Formats: sequence, C-alpha cells, structure tokens
Amino acid sequence: MSVDPFDVAVIGAGVVGLSIARAFAATNARTVVVERHPGPGREQSTHNSGVVHSGVFARPGTLRARLNVEGNRRMYEEAASLGVPVEPCGTLVVARSPVHIAELEKYGRWGRENGVPGLSFASPEEARQIEPRLGPCERCLLAPTGGRVDAAGLVRALDTDLARRGVERRYNVELRPAERSESGWTLFGSAGESVAARHCINAAGVGAGRVATTFGAPGRRIYPCLGEYARVVGERSAWVRTMVYGFPPPRYPGIGVHLTRTAGGELLIGPTASYIDSDEPPPLPVTPLAEFAELANAYVPGITEHDLVPAPSGVRATTVPPGSAEPFGEFQIFEEPPGSGVVHCFGIESPGLTACFAIGSYVAERWPASPP
Ligand SMILES: Cc1cc2nc3c(=O)[nH]c(=O)nc-3n(C[C@H](O)[C@H](O)[C@H](O)COP(=O)(O)OP(=O)(O)OC[C@H]3O[C@@H](n4cnc5c(N)ncnc54)[C@H](O)[C@@H]3O)c2cc1C
Repeated sequence: MSVDPFDVAVIGAGVVGLSIARAFAATNARTVVVERHPGPGREQSTHNSGVVHSGVFARPGTLRARLNVEGNRRMYEEAASLGVPVEPCGTLVVARSPVHIAELEKYGRWGRENGVPGLSFASPEEARQIEPRLGPCERCLLAPTGGRVDAAGLVRALDTDLARRGVERRYNVELRPAERSESGWTLFGSAGESVAARHCINAAGVGAGRVATTFGAPGRRIYPCLGEYARVVGERSAWVRTMVYGFPPPRYPGIGVHLTRTAGGELLIGPTASYIDSDEPPPLPVTPLAEFAELANAYVPGITEHDLVPAPSGVRATTVPPGSAEPFGEFQIFEEPPGSGVVHCFGIESPGLTACFAIGSYVAERWPASPP
C-alpha cells in the first residue's frame, strides 16, 4: 500500500488509459495505472481492426469527431516516435450501387466538415488503380489520411514509455470498492490491495459502468457488443492492399464489416456486431465463415469460405442500446459526482484506438491534477 496518495490513478490499461496516464505523467503528476489483467491492452485495444480512421464516419460537431481527426494526425506522429509501425495507406468507402450514393456523399460532407484532409471522390476506374480486385462500384470516397497501426505494438510501446516516465502499473488488480477519503480516494483491489489517489480516471472500457458505480456514479450503462473477424489465408490474402469499407446489410450497424489489410500484413474481414451479456467474447465463433465470405464477396468477388479461418474477436464498449436508430455513440467524458475528482470515459468504441493520444491530452488538460 502506498502511503502518499498518487496524484492520479487510472483504472484500465488499454490504449486510452495508457495514453491518459502518459499525458498526466507529462505534467509531472505522480500517476498509477490499475489493471485487472496480468498485462496491458488485453481487451478492445488489441482486438480491433487496427485502422487509423480519417474521421469521415464521425458526426460533425461531436467530441468523437473532434478527437478522431486530432487523434489521426497525432497517431502518425506519436506512434512513429515510439517506433510503432503506422502507415497512412488510405481508405476507400465504396458505393456498390446507386442506392448508396446519398450516404457516400453524406460521409464526404461529414469528412469535410470535420476537417479531414485530402478527401476526394473516385471513379470505379480510379478506385481499381488502388484496389484492382474491387467488384461492383458506382463511386468511391477516398480518404488518404486513413491508415493502419500495429495496435499490439502500440500497447507495448506505451507501457514501456510509462515505465520510463516512472508511472507505476499495477497488473492483476481488479478494482472493486472505492472509498472517498480526506485526501481523495482509496481504491481496493479484488485481492485486498489498496491504492490512494487524489484524482481517478475510469478508463475501464467495457467495465466502465461497474467502475462508475463503485465511485458513486451509477445510472450509465455499457452494452457489450461482440465484433467477430475472419482472416483470409493463402493467395487471396493479397487481394486487398488498403482498407475497403462499404454499406453492409443493416444487421451490421455502424460502419459494419470491412476488409482490412493490417499493419502485420493480414487480410481481415469484419467486425460483425451482436450484443452479448459478457465482457468476454464467447469461447467459440458465432458467425459462420460462409457469412464472412458473402460479406467480402460483395466488395471483392471470389473470396470463398475455404479461404477463411476464424480470427480473434473483440467486445465493443458501446453506450448505444440494442435496436437504436443511431448506430454510433458519442464519446462521453465527464466528472461525476461533480467535484469528486473522478473522470469517466464512457463509450470509447471505434475510433478510440485512433483517438487515444487526443483523448489523453483532452482529459489531462480539462481536469489537471494540480499537486496540493
Ligand atoms: C471489434 C472492434 C474493432 C475496432 N476497430 C477499431 C479500429 O479499427 N480503429 C479504431 O480507432 N478503433 C477501433 N476499435 C475501438 C478501439 O479498439 C477502442 O476504442 C479502444 O481500444 C478503447 O481503449 P480503452 O483503453 O478505452 O479500452 P480497453 O482496451 O477495453 O481497456 C479497458 C481496460 O480496463 C480494464 N478494466 C475493466 N474493468 C476493470 C476493473 N474493475 N479493474 C481494473 N481494470 C479494469 C480492462 O481489463 C481493460 O484492459 C474497435 C473495437 C472493437 C471491439
């Protein structure tokens, strides 16, 4: 147990918690990270598409849009400075038929309003110069600042950087109760550990609702939403070079299933979207490979279920309840109870990986941990 309270305790060692800790450490705040797993980034932060989103899918005027576009720029600078593979390969949004054109134009408008640089509409011929295997196509939106990052490498690099900056990381500590004390808060772990801190940041992803309740801020819910992937194996894994987004069937809300060449050179199809009652993915895949093949074929014809193997899935920490007309939730970052010194990060689903450095600075600047 630490005698002197820390200035800041961050609950959750995903890319968001680690980036927030890094931003506080840069202000010389004495910072500790508390994480329930034996190491960092074992949940959403390493179970995603690894896409550096440009910002065309974020509704203008939202915090999500602002932190997406700022985070995109900073990801290329900061991941590179940490030695993490990151590359602006560009992303294509493909309207396969005339019924998708209005929505494609909406994303073009959103991107321009969000300040996404370099956007252009591309003809099918221009798009096939980038993706020669592209199937039916009316028109495309090309976002050159979209790209890919090695998410697992980023987690490792952030953890190493925090160690270098003197930030304590306490793994295998699941926060259970938190009690208000004279100097701030005392956090108790599941095995009886305790940490005292003046300010606390709830960056617990899919666990954020329970952590908020612990701090006396109940009433906000996370709805865990499973995202499954399939990986293309063999010769057809070279059929996509960049990222191909489209307009998947409505059963996959949001930006839905896409084809992604990862920083590690794999070709992924996914993620699906289905609500579950757990923080963890089910032990066995739910979505048949034939369904991934069907989804991929709509954009890149010729991929069959025999070219696919299941790939690790992730669980989104969404605040959007099942059946909602609005597929994307807002990033909700707020202090609660007011004046408590506890800041909660809710609904940091996609593009939270892209936005992590921007989220870190946003929290540390807005709620500074001024030493006593
Ligand atoms: C399928 C999928 C695809 C995605 N694709 C992309 C993409 O391509 N691009 C992009 O920008 N974003 C993407 N995202 C979103 C991105 O992965 C997340 O926004 C980001 O990783 C959130 O980071 P985090 O640190 O908030 O959450 P997490 O990585 O989930 O970390 C939260 C941490 O809190 C810990 N925790 C929870 N409760 C407790 C407790 N009580 N005590 C201690 N520790 C606790 C957890 O163990 C976990 O390590 C995707 C997400 C998913 C699921």
